[in-house]
Amino acid sequence: MSGTLYVVATPIGNLEDMTYRAVRILQEVDLIAAEDTRHSRKLLNHYAIDSALISYHEHNEEFRSPQLIAKLQAGQSIALISDAGTPCIADPGYRLISYCRQEGVLVVAVPGPSAIVAALSISGLPTDAFHFVGFLPAKTHGRCQLFELVKNEQQTVVCYEAPHRLISSLNDIGEICGMDRPIAIARELTKRHEELFSGTVAEALEYFGQSGVKGELVMLLSPAPVRQPEGTVKDTLSRLREETDLSWKEIVKQVAKEFGVPGSDVYKESLDLR
Ligand code: SAM
Repeated sequence: MSGTLYVVATPIGNLEDMTYRAVRILQEVDLIAAEDTRHSRKLLNHYAIDSALISYHEHNEEFRSPQLIAKLQAGQSIALISDAGTPCIADPGYRLISYCRQEGVLVVAVPGPSAIVAALSISGLPTDAFHFVGFLPAKTHGRCQLFELVKNEQQTVVCYEAPHRLISSLNDIGEICGMDRPIAIARELTKRHEELFSGTVAEALEYFGQSGVKGELVMLLSPAPVRQPEGTVKDTLSRLREETDLSWKEIVKQVAKEFGVPGSDVYKESLDLR
């Protein structure tokens, strides 16, 4: 019988955000695979957890994964933890999970904190659907390419950003998505200096430009505003016919997209004008 791999979420700052189950599993497993063993020791000591520790991080996951699989196949149980939050979410782990699935090793989630969900839950931005893009690219060019892709996104866009790049990123967002775009920035969640900034990109630039930025951040961009087209479908059809060289087929397609209505309906309206 193979052992089980437990994917265990740990606090994102406040040591009290540990579930009872997470503590029990970490006490019971044969081995804890931790992103940074020295960092995790603090949490483990706090909960009197003395299970054996082994490192598992982005630089050794390729070579460590087969070793862990062999232990699991020999019947050992292992818990995977990262420095903070949920392993595998912008953190190492997915390779190990993927090998476990290939090898038929049972993987069990022990859910808990994650910075994305914590930030979303207090952001005041729509949460019914969201688009998580991970860490923003470090350079302006990469960031602008990403913002071009998400600027018309109809869901809240969530990303991680380093404090020393926040001002440059806000400038890039303003350039691509508009300085008036609503944004939320969750800083130091669950810690002493926790704060949630909410306002436009321009206001964020003013606020963080003055106060300086420190600590860990999650940035959330509101969904793109839905711009209501002006006039009626028929007016727009006639206007495009008069003002452009587009064919009726192209006009119908464009108007259907603009008004968000079926092309067949727009086509019927266009027949009256032909
Ligand atoms: N796996 C983690 C999770 O589920 O939250 C995320 C790991 S990722 C390497 C670390 C990033 O998450 C930080 O750079 C920061 O952007 C964000 N983060 C982590 N803890 C945070 C906190 N307490 N407040 C705000 N953001 C945080």
